[in-house]
Amino acid sequence: MENTSFARETRISDTPFLSLNPSTLEVIGEVVNTSREEIDAKIEKAKKAQKLWSARPDTERKDILLKVAEALQLHSKELAEWITREQGKPLSGPGANFEMQACVGWTQVPASLDLPEEIVFEDDTRKDVLYRNPIGIVAAIAPWNWPLMIAIWQIIPSLRMGNAVIIKPSEYTTFCSLEMIKVINSVLPEDILQVVTGRGEVGGYLTAHPEIGKVMFTGSIATGKKVIEASAKNMARLTLECGGNDAGIILPGLDIAQHIENLFWGAFLNMGQTCACLKRLYVHENDYEKITQALTDYCSNIPMGNGADESSVLGPVQNKMQYDKIQDLISDSENVDAEFIFTGQKPDLEGYFIPLTLIGNVDNGNRIVDEEQFGPVLPVIKYKTLEEAISKANDSETGLGASVWSNDLDEAQKVAAQLEAGTVWINQHGAIHPFVPFGGVKQSGYGVEFGIEGLKAVTVPKIISIKK
Ligand code: NDP
Repeated sequence: MENTSFARETRISDTPFLSLNPSTLEVIGEVVNTSREEIDAKIEKAKKAQKLWSARPDTERKDILLKVAEALQLHSKELAEWITREQGKPLSGPGANFEMQACVGWTQVPASLDLPEEIVFEDDTRKDVLYRNPIGIVAAIAPWNWPLMIAIWQIIPSLRMGNAVIIKPSEYTTFCSLEMIKVINSVLPEDILQVVTGRGEVGGYLTAHPEIGKVMFTGSIATGKKVIEASAKNMARLTLECGGNDAGIILPGLDIAQHIENLFWGAFLNMGQTCACLKRLYVHENDYEKITQALTDYCSNIPMGNGADESSVLGPVQNKMQYDKIQDLISDSENVDAEFIFTGQKPDLEGYFIPLTLIGNVDNGNRIVDEEQFGPVLPVIKYKTLEEAISKANDSETGLGASVWSNDLDEAQKVAAQLEAGTVWINQHGAIHPFVPFGGVKQSGYGVEFGIEGLKAVTVPKIISIKK
């Protein structure tokens, strides 16, 4: 395929990037930018490998992927240690070991699901059968927050449906990703899963390549829009998960003691660096003291430190860019006279640590409420009426997740129906599941992952229409 004009447009520098341990700032290694020529060569290899892979019986691909799940399980301890070292999340709690168990589960489920052909119409005159064909080569652009789990979400369904995959991990979490890809490739046939490394420009070159048929992207809205622009060149199909600014609404009278653990982890999982974390909490004014006290008490008992230390349940923020962004939002809150309801202990370590912080006396219109903090800082906003809370929750350019918390499930469902989000959880937040489709509305992106819908998203429908 002709690609000279495309190749001239994208420059890839040869300056490497230093990957650091975010707890200690120890240098892990130099991330080298894969050159354009190397990417072209990998794409040529992927084309050949994909033809062989898609020609295999479906049951063979299924069995091979179930063996991948076994290999991930076998190596889960050392891969979890890699995650902690490079990404920062602790081994303990819902951290790196938890991420590895998710990798195993999110490999087993797409490997086990079936997407058979479907007779979509039949009468005396004709029969129309819909087949789900692979797209070809999938470019997977993975972020640094859940580097292995999100890579698995992108890789496994794509392979299951007969595609080849070329993945670019985030520059911040390259080495743990390379370790996992080594484990996966110990089971897969050659060249069906390949990796390119380096900065965003490597991702830019890959996603715009004429031979790429599909891009699976998780990251920021700004970069998601660049991926959309790139797809104007090659018409690649896109699944874009661009994060959100998820709202949670607590309905009046909630039994907070029963829900405090779920509420806390809904907001602070992975130091808040999770696309579907609860990022702004709306609380009825009569319950404000009770809820903020319960959150304060819970936050006070969560140890933060180097993730390699088994007593740590929370770790550092992953990188300097994110650290600065969160600090800027905290400073802005100080300038608008917000109430700092709670500020936790910052560990006496060199890394990118930001203590757990609860912020009150803020509202829509303040940056800490309007912008995605993606960190361990939660604004708690008082409301007087439910209409006001719903309207403020929906007042966002994004709509990934949302949650409603109540003792009354019927009432909660009525509120859930009015929230603009891809998923609304009741009495939990961010509770994703490999069988349940997940994706956003508005600028949180488009397309869904997981379950049968996720498998469909890495195929193209093909109809064979027979005249009788
Ligand atoms: P990005 O969107 O830039 O990074 C996500 C992925 O896209 C990384 O692999 C990145 O590579 C890659 N990338 C960068 N530029 C391009 C490009 N032109 N074409 C293709 N791929 C590209 O996010 P940041 O890391 O800059 O984080 C910024 C903000 O995004 C965060 O503060 C957070 O709010 C949000 N975010 C959301 C995530 C989510 O789960 N939805 C995950 C991560 C961030 P590289 O890292 O090497 O630049």
